Amino acid sequence: MIFDPQHRKDNRSARIGMALFRMSQAIKKVTQAESDTLGLSSVQIQALLFAAYTRSDVATVGNFANTIGTTHVTAVKILNGLVRRELINKSQKAEDRRVTLLSLTSKGREIVNKLDNWGHLLDDALQPIPEELLAHFEIGLGSIISTLQKEGHLIVSEPCLGCIHFLPNTGDIAAPHYCKMIQKYLTHEASLQECPEHTSSFKV
Ligand code: SF4
Repeated sequence: MIFDPQHRKDNRSARIGMALFRMSQAIKKVTQAESDTLGLSSVQIQALLFAAYTRSDVATVGNFANTIGTTHVTAVKILNGLVRRELINKSQKAEDRRVTLLSLTSKGREIVNKLDNWGHLLDDALQPIPEELLAHFEIGLGSIISTLQKEGHLIVSEPCLGCIHFLPNTGDIAAPHYCKMIQKYLTHEASLQECPEHTSSFKV
């Protein structure tokens, strides 16, 4: 049990587990304080970032709910608050009208453009660490994230590069890349957007 200091004393994974837990607490506190300055909650900011960086055809209410680990109903409440403030647009997907797509309004885009420093705490804390140590750290964290992802505890949205379904430069100029999962050609711009179905080819 990572919360027991005696257990941590002789157990490296428990010490690291506790360190990650403490980091998550600090991140929560700092991101909340940063969000307050914009008059939004941190989860509302996450919604704006989701709409900004997720590929438009998968920027759905359901995927947003999964990304932040909440229920569909709670996600809808969060998003409705942003729709009322004219920061997010909701529209029905043409192929399936039961699916609601999210996009930023121009006002929402303005807020996202102001978010350059949001969540900078971690970046700042990692800067002084030497590159070699960071490389090991990245592999270790990748392994933890991959395990949590496989167990269904989190969704990792990433652009197409590095995804097992990605076949780059197999199409024409307009839509040069192919996704084996959705069986569609993608524009280069779409392949640079985050996708909740990204399945890393990185083996840990
Ligand atoms: S599943 Fe992979 S290749 Fe397909 S769109 Fe998503 S990230 Fe790109």
